[in-house]
Amino acid sequence: MYLPIMNTHEILAKLVSFPVLGGQSNIPIAEWIEGYLDTHGVAYTNVPNEDGSKRSIHCRIGPSVDGGVILSGHMDVVPVEGQDWDTDPFILTDKNDGKLYGRGSCDMKAYIACCLAMLPKMIAAKLSKPIYFAFSYDEEIGCLAAPELAEHINTHYEETPAYAIIGEPSMMQPIVGQKGMVIYETSVNGSAGHSSRIRTEVSAIHETAKLIVWLENKMHALVDAGQLDERFEPPHTSIHCGWLPHSGIAPNVISDAASFFWDVRVIPKDSSKLILQEFEEHCRSVEAECQKRYKDFKISTIENHSDVPPLDTLEDLPIVEFIQAISGRSDLGTVSYAAEAGQFAEAGFQAVICGPGDIAQAHRANEFVAKEQLEKCCVMLGKLIDRLSE
Ligand SMILES: [Zn+2]
Repeated sequence: MYLPIMNTHEILAKLVSFPVLGGQSNIPIAEWIEGYLDTHGVAYTNVPNEDGSKRSIHCRIGPSVDGGVILSGHMDVVPVEGQDWDTDPFILTDKNDGKLYGRGSCDMKAYIACCLAMLPKMIAAKLSKPIYFAFSYDEEIGCLAAPELAEHINTHYEETPAYAIIGEPSMMQPIVGQKGMVIYETSVNGSAGHSSRIRTEVSAIHETAKLIVWLENKMHALVDAGQLDERFEPPHTSIHCGWLPHSGIAPNVISDAASFFWDVRVIPKDSSKLILQEFEEHCRSVEAECQKRYKDFKISTIENHSDVPPLDTLEDLPIVEFIQAISGRSDLGTVSYAAEAGQFAEAGFQAVICGPGDIAQAHRANEFVAKEQLEKCCVMLGKLIDRLSE
């Protein structure tokens, strides 16, 4: 049978042509990838969301034995609205400057394209340990699908994969650490009134301001207590309030409602859950105090962006030697962006990030991936195939 073998460039062009943003249905791009797997005779499994409008894909190439390697990527991209693009972001454009331009060209359809382009080689190799593809959706709006996908891989296959290589842009440098990230929305319910009555009513804005200062002081306290990890820049957990969308109606009216969004980016030794727990305890004591003046005073906090766990792959784990050998790079790095690596690690796989392209080019106008990066990634996957064929 004739199998049309597409090269990395052609596959990447196809993947970029699907403008599937985080949060949107990813069925068109999923169907194309499934068609590609069908063409090569690879059976795959879907992990759909509740209403069937989105699905992750996983598949195995090679034998059902322990110790295989998962190659993980996300199919969604970030929006292009308001960005000044020189070319159509959803047409992969070769300007003959060694770069391929397009939304997702770097983050992170480049890695998926390399995986798919190397598929015929994986099939032809006599793999003694298997390779898995794990392609998710809704990564860009909070790494929402990866936990279920990783868990599905755990239960679906009789054997147990050992490693997961998440192909986020890292310039093909092995990344062993990632900060965790979560965003909370806190709402404060105060009492309205004339501004002169500020000592009688409870201003939602004033209480909000104090809560934000409490959060900042919490961050300083962690630093002062020596909670540092010099592998990261900055080397501490950050707690920051960046948005107060609905707060007050006029200068002379006490605000009866305010809300604010705050994000926590934890180093692996800190815990966002413990920080939230301490904040909640503080809120309960503030409520008790303020309810003496206004009985319906309330502070409530919800997750606005799911809690993405940090990645902390210890340097003596076998995956570190493995990724150093196949990537040809011994220098290990850390990143401060959220990615699915911590979630695969939580599911029990040793995980690292290593993928083509530079994160500095991601999420912005004229995103590109250097062709040389695609080649390096395919070389790494070639070495992966060799290692698993030994
Ligand atoms: Zn990404």
